[in-house]
Amino acid sequence: MSEITNSVYQKSIERTASALKANNMLPYIAKNKSEALSLIKDILTEGATVACGGSVTLSEIGATELLRSGAYNFLDREGKSPEEVQKIYRDAFSADFYLTSANAITENGELYNVDGNSNRVAAICFGPKSVIVVAGRNKLVRTLDDAVMRVKSIAAPANTARLGCETYCLSKGECMALASGSSGMTDGCRSKDRICCSYVVTAQQRIKDRIKVILVNEDIGF
Ligand code: SF4
Repeated sequence: MSEITNSVYQKSIERTASALKANNMLPYIAKNKSEALSLIKDILTEGATVACGGSVTLSEIGATELLRSGAYNFLDREGKSPEEVQKIYRDAFSADFYLTSANAITENGELYNVDGNSNRVAAICFGPKSVIVVAGRNKLVRTLDDAVMRVKSIAAPANTARLGCETYCLSKGECMALASGSSGMTDGCRSKDRICCSYVVTAQQRIKDRIKVILVNEDIGF
């Protein structure tokens, strides 16, 4: 990607960072994945209890590997039974840190997340002392309407493929709502595998800087 393109994205990142700050979230800007990982290392404290949401972004930047390094008390769901996973979901509420990505971030400083299990959006809203959100520039949008469209046209179809969910968007590459011409935020399919169940907009926060947002000037995840 050219320097010119990078500088255009950088301006969008800077607008988004200012808006997040105005909403009492603490923004960080990283040039690339390795800078983002260094920022996470700086924010986390050794021995802290850390949980995370399922995220391609966290895997791509090496954060999942970092959490498994032994430096932290990582509440790892990998290889656990369904009962153990349910316990981890609940234990995550008292973690020191919760790592996740976002489905979209607006230039108005809002995080937009759509969740099937809803454990991820629940932890973003309440519980962990600190939440660290990592998002590549491909997640940045102008408005909440754009965020809704991003999930229906990119994030949800890609995530159903990742998770092996049998949904309309897995086979067609877009939400059923778009194909049928409906534009409501929660419009969609009736599949039992539907991953769009809870729609959460994170706006101005009461607890200043509880949510830290690392904006990366590279495409990461989906
Ligand atoms: S509502 Fe269904 S079809 Fe629409 S994006 Fe979500 S899972 Fe896919």
